[in-house]
Amino acid sequence: MKFYIKTFGCQMNFNDSERIKGILKSLGYEQAQSYEEADIILLNTCTIREKPDQKVYSHLGEYKKVKEKNPKAIIGVCGCLAQRMGAELVNKAPVIDLMFSSFNIHQLPQLIQQAQAGYKAIAILEEPPEDEDKLWEYPTVRDNQYCAYVTVMKGCDKNCTYCVVPKTRGRQRSRSLQSILSEVKALVEDGVKEVHLLGQNVTAWGQDIGMHFADLLYEVAQVEGVQRIRFTTGHPKDMDERIAKAMGEIPTVCPHVHLPFQAGSNRILALMDRGYTKEEYLEKIQMLREYKKGITFSTDVIVGFPTETEEDFEHTLDLLEKVRFEQVFSFKFSPRPGTPAYSMEGQVPDDVKTQRMARLLNLQKKILSEIAKEYEGTIQEVLLESYENGKLVGRTLTNRWATLQGPEELLGKTVLVRVERANPYNLECSLVSVLS
Ligand code: SAM
Ligand code: SF4
Repeated sequence: MKFYIKTFGCQMNFNDSERIKGILKSLGYEQAQSYEEADIILLNTCTIREKPDQKVYSHLGEYKKVKEKNPKAIIGVCGCLAQRMGAELVNKAPVIDLMFSSFNIHQLPQLIQQAQAGYKAIAILEEPPEDEDKLWEYPTVRDNQYCAYVTVMKGCDKNCTYCVVPKTRGRQRSRSLQSILSEVKALVEDGVKEVHLLGQNVTAWGQDIGMHFADLLYEVAQVEGVQRIRFTTGHPKDMDERIAKAMGEIPTVCPHVHLPFQAGSNRILALMDRGYTKEEYLEKIQMLREYKKGITFSTDVIVGFPTETEEDFEHTLDLLEKVRFEQVFSFKFSPRPGTPAYSMEGQVPDDVKTQRMARLLNLQKKILSEIAKEYEGTIQEVLLESYENGKLVGRTLTNRWATLQGPEELLGKTVLVRVERANPYNLECSLVSVLS
């Protein structure tokens, strides 16, 4: 029996899929190369913007053909769209046999049994169940041998007015320190060198269990064999001095932070209910630069939030110029049903959003080529994660992709490289020495 999973959306969804693969493996399923040969096909969906929603329907149309050839094949949908739409999704797409929310991934074995018996197996809970932590008992199945995601919290207690996450993922639940550490230890024993702590709002970890995210960083750093620690996504409001200090004191915490600012205008930030101003955001950036030498930043930006004027948008461009992010993920505002911004007055026309987006991307491209030049000739530490098209591929401590010629045996090694040529999205390097 074989399974196939298609995943949309954020790293949290990818990590959920890795866990789902672990559950399916424990039931004796093997991973199929394509959906055509699978007995269970799963779509792990995202609903953060409208576009990913639409993709789901076209994929389901394709999967329907598999069922024509193999009527016993099970087609399932999970993730945020399943959570947001519930039974309505099955009415729209009756081909779905199985549907579950991110709250009840651990119930997958029973749900599969139900679907195999010919019933529609649907488990969409309104609230996370008591036994949600059972999920951690299943190991993940990862494609990357050396770098691993570790989900440390679920849900989000912020209420940004544009965002569906608090609805689809529920209130914030920090995973216990003990559970996180035992997963990190198991990963290291399995050959992992870099752990990437994940949460919709990871810097708020611990607030609901009387702990602080800085404590988690110190604890994970104590696990022998962890060479690199990264985390995503940081929230500017929770990014405090304790975290900055921990980052400075722990050499294995990488000098890179993903810190979404969303908008540069204080008026728009207030309408988004983000809980900080442009000036406060810049102060946090400065604080992090002081504590962590050489730190780089990436961010998320929303363009065309309701009522955004030309002057508001210029504040966004100004923030890009001031911080000089190494990576910017920019999105046109997409009104999501059920969020306050959906029905706000002053929706910005799509052509204006498109023009602003183009200007933002142009500016960022210019900044990136300038930053790239600064890398040329420097020595960087790279963990070699994969071998693609005859080249070794890895990331610098500052989260830049780097490629170099070299034997495949170097996979999994941490090396020093010299940057020969730098373009905005990749550093072409030569090997200097092997560190470990
Ligand atoms: N928790 C993170 C934070 O506070 O920044 C973000 C998580 S969200 C899954 C990822 C990104 O999607 C957000 O940072 C935001 O830029 C974007 N996003 C969320 N809702 C959106 C919407 N309605 N329209 C456009 N972009 C949106
Ligand atoms: Fe969504 Fe805001 Fe929570 Fe991020 S912090 S997940 S943008 S509600």
